[in-house]
Amino acid sequence: MTRIAFIGLGIMGGPMAGHLVDVGHDVIGYDLHRAAVDALAARGGHAAADVAEAVSGAEVVITMVPDSPDVEAITLGPGGIYATARLGTLHIDCSTIRPDVARRVAEAGADRGIRVVDAPVSGGEAGAVEAVLSIMVGGEAADVEAARPYLDVVGRTVVHVGPSGAGQTVKAANQLIVAGNIQLVAEALVFLEAHGVDIDASTSVLAGGLAGSTVLDRKASGMRAREFAPGFRIDLHHKDMGIVTEAARAAGVAIPLGAHVAQLVGALRAQGHGRLDHSALLMQVEQLSGRGEPVRAG
Ligand code: NAD
Repeated sequence: MTRIAFIGLGIMGGPMAGHLVDVGHDVIGYDLHRAAVDALAARGGHAAADVAEAVSGAEVVITMVPDSPDVEAITLGPGGIYATARLGTLHIDCSTIRPDVARRVAEAGADRGIRVVDAPVSGGEAGAVEAVLSIMVGGEAADVEAARPYLDVVGRTVVHVGPSGAGQTVKAANQLIVAGNIQLVAEALVFLEAHGVDIDASTSVLAGGLAGSTVLDRKASGMRAREFAPGFRIDLHHKDMGIVTEAARAAGVAIPLGAHVAQLVGALRAQGHGRLDHSALLMQVEQLSGRGEPVRAG
């Protein structure tokens, strides 16, 4: 049993922390939303009133917060993890953030005697709930091996992809593929519906061929029902498209389709839909096609 501080108990962090409780770890959670902390306590974890209380005494700290500034604040800010954690603590950051920020945070941690790995995840809310996430890990080999027993509890595919920040680079590529795939699945569904073909039959045959994908398997039924509760918020995918667009530019790599989908994600957000699931890209395809309900802020 390990004493684990878990900070950020939202759509992803809540179930991940819960799995760590279920296998017997001593998990103390903190989130800005008290209800999320109470939910962890109800599952057998403990509640902390702030980051410092969660971290003091922890051997492992796991963070799952939205964006780069959030990770910087809870690691480097006053009362943050690196001001509080004891020497040798292992910090596993599962948030999706900029690779350069991940590297900077890891260096700051190392200066304080904290071992840091970036371990962003893929698989969505369902992947977190079912503990089958794919986890791309960056950091020193020994630290990654130290993190593996905890990551194995929440994920099925845990791969060390390189040094600090490499996990975030791979995650950026993941988000590029997912965003493009969702947009094309949305376009295909609107196209099929417009032709009046049997959608069950269509999606089942598409799933069996080269067009098959986890996006098709996991997102098509919600799209067909026009159910866009998150899941993965458009706000977060907009953040991720910013990360991959900037990282591609820094590397001198063209991502023409990715840049286009980034604009479509940004447009949906600008229309007030940032809190909907990214599968709501379908609404925009309908709007552009003059079909369905007009897009209204949701
Ligand atoms: P979320 O908004 O549901 O959860 C984030 C939680 O962090 C919230 O409960 C929020 O209150 C908390 N938080 C923010 N700042 C904090 C702080 N300073 N101290 C304590 N708690 C704080 O978001 P999510 O969907 O769980 O995503 C979390 C991260 O995982 C993001 O980086 C996201 O890009 C990534 N991610 C999400 C999914 C998904 O499908 N939702 C999939 C893979 C990766």
